[in-house]
Amino acid sequence: MSLFTAVEMAPRDPILGLNEQFNADTNPNKVNLGVGVYFDDNGKLPLLQCVQAAEKTMMATPTARGYLPIDGIVAYDNAVKSLVFGADSEPVKSGRVATVQAIGGTGGLKIGADFLKKVSPNAKVLISDPSWENHRALFTNAGFEVGTYAYYDAEKRGVNFEGFLASLNAAAPGTIVVLHACCHNPTGYDITPAQWDQVIAVVKAKNLTPFLDMAYQGFGHGIAEDGAVIGKFVAAGLNFFVSTSFSKSFSLYGERVGGLSVLCADKEEASRVLSQLKIVIRTNYSNPPIHGGAVVAAVLNNPELRALWEKELGEMRVRIKAMRQKLVDGLNAAGVKQDMSFITQQIGMFSYSGLTKDQMERLRNEFGVYGTDTGRMCVAALNSKNIDYVCQAIAKVI
Ligand code: PLP
Repeated sequence: MSLFTAVEMAPRDPILGLNEQFNADTNPNKVNLGVGVYFDDNGKLPLLQCVQAAEKTMMATPTARGYLPIDGIVAYDNAVKSLVFGADSEPVKSGRVATVQAIGGTGGLKIGADFLKKVSPNAKVLISDPSWENHRALFTNAGFEVGTYAYYDAEKRGVNFEGFLASLNAAAPGTIVVLHACCHNPTGYDITPAQWDQVIAVVKAKNLTPFLDMAYQGFGHGIAEDGAVIGKFVAAGLNFFVSTSFSKSFSLYGERVGGLSVLCADKEEASRVLSQLKIVIRTNYSNPPIHGGAVVAAVLNNPELRALWEKELGEMRVRIKAMRQKLVDGLNAAGVKQDMSFITQQIGMFSYSGLTKDQMERLRNEFGVYGTDTGRMCVAALNSKNIDYVCQAIAKVI
């Protein structure tokens, strides 16, 4: 009899489980469209030039590794603030944003969730239906009851916007609403700027607490374009949370670079909020790691490296868009009769392909093409070498 005799086996992470299956697959043509990672046209994980340049400079003057402050590197936090709200924006200038460095976007969400549990212990959380699978688990583990708001309309191949608004209208005041700022994961369908205005009006009227998850800034229409939604929430006079991830936009997945920003009423309130965010961090992991944050700060705060980053991020964005078009054309050429042009209306890394669980299983088992059972495929893992094979495979299972 051990202390752990009664411990149950937890279910496998669906995406990581898929990865294991992919690695064990001996099909030489296998393609992994399961995990949300951007690969270049050679199927390689990119190491951005801006990152290499920043690291080279850092290595030229090696520094000792003391502890960082609890909230991270000051220059990093300021860079995150400027990126999210705009360097010359009123919230940044007035000092009413509390920003902390976090361990990836996930870390930002978790710090925000733990802090919210103290501020609004009885609030419910709403996530989109469907959403990034970790949203539910993360907010549930932080002690919240998690429900969903309507989002995806399978028949319409788009957003069930009326349903979305109706869900928000039905929510109790104080409900925490987790919103995808851009590049909705998993569907690839975003709402329009005019629809955001309507969402914000309901959030305001119903006194809901918005938590924007910004994991793909720059992957949709551009850095400023994707960030514009933040300005809309500011203009509405709301207090809200924004988690930031640089995993994809800097291709720094394993460095775990992210942040959390909380827009407060004024500077004095922001300093109180910051003090509480620091308690959450201190009691979880004390303070963040240095390297990834230092690299991102070095790039964002240096005009030349920043320009290089914007160029490299732009190339990733453009390549994904090109792959969407190639996928539509390739499916057509492979004899798929149904209209697949919705794939080019989607944005970001993912496409909800509309394929069923059975079709996705056949793709995996017969062709070594791996996507999730929900039909989600990572378009950012397609390239000029595997696209034809993937199109042929999909055409055979449709
Ligand atoms: N939020 C969404 C919507 C995501 O898709 C992801 C990553 O896939 C994250 C958050 C987490 O980002 P990170 O890997 O930086 O923790």
